[in-house]
Amino acid sequence: MERSLGFMSIGKNSFSILVSILFLSTSHLMAQAKYDVKKVNDHVYIFTELWDANANGNCGVIIGDKQVLLINAMMLSSAADLESEIRKITDLPIGFVINSDSDTYNHHANTYFADRGASIISHENIKHSQAYHQLLFKEEISIRIGDEVVTAYHTPSHTLDHVDVHLKKSNVLFMSDGFQPHWLTYTGPNGIEGVLSGIDMAIALSDDETIIVPGNTSKNPDFYFGNRKHLLRNREIYIKFNNRVGELFKKGLTVEEIASDKILNRIVEKLEAYPKFKPFLKYVVEESLEVNFRTKIN
Ligand SMILES: [Zn+2]
Repeated sequence: MERSLGFMSIGKNSFSILVSILFLSTSHLMAQAKYDVKKVNDHVYIFTELWDANANGNCGVIIGDKQVLLINAMMLSSAADLESEIRKITDLPIGFVINSDSDTYNHHANTYFADRGASIISHENIKHSQAYHQLLFKEEISIRIGDEVVTAYHTPSHTLDHVDVHLKKSNVLFMSDGFQPHWLTYTGPNGIEGVLSGIDMAIALSDDETIIVPGNTSKNPDFYFGNRKHLLRNREIYIKFNNRVGELFKKGLTVEEIASDKILNRIVEKLEAYPKFKPFLKYVVEESLEVNFRTKIN
């Protein structure tokens, strides 16, 4: 009764807000987050959250002697499911959460884990975003978790508060959206130079066995993670792609024309997501023009 009265009396805006709230709460009640769990070793796991979208999302679970370190908190709506999934492996409390950046899915559930005792660690620039934060660092921070030393370090890739997380002993590097093995990541305000700098740092830390973990990842389990070969290959692709975009821009071509250029398409067709993401290439072109050329050409 209260509900129908509410529907009768509220205005158009409140109605759409109410509809969104109802939709969000039912979708939350109905959808239980599901995970593909990769065990790297007894202490290190990669969880791939299976999203109802054209991407999945990776996070990391590092188990120490007394506590667990979580790399990325994911969304608040999936936090309880993520916690239950971690409980299948260990009863230890989640002592730390490291955020890769201010992209919502990397930090949205920070408060959930902080309320349960976790310390939240992020790059200092995250304070300019909406993200709940506690401990901030500038260049690098290392935390010993069991016999693993977890090192989070800042790179200029993708966002201004981006962090890669290196597990030296387990030979895993979490790069979030600073790098995507299967597609071109959004370079962010530092442009191609920022992404290349992040890739170069990763190349220096990795060998042929290193597992490279992106954030937003493929729907195809074969491409949930990458390796050093992807770093080297995509580095070349980024350079060739941006050079070609610049060339065509100087000739006066539009974004659409650049995105359908044959040579440009041949450069990116080696990327596994190309057949699926080809329609989105114009957005990558648009971003490249914005951060690499329009603002720098006189
Ligand atoms: Zn992102």
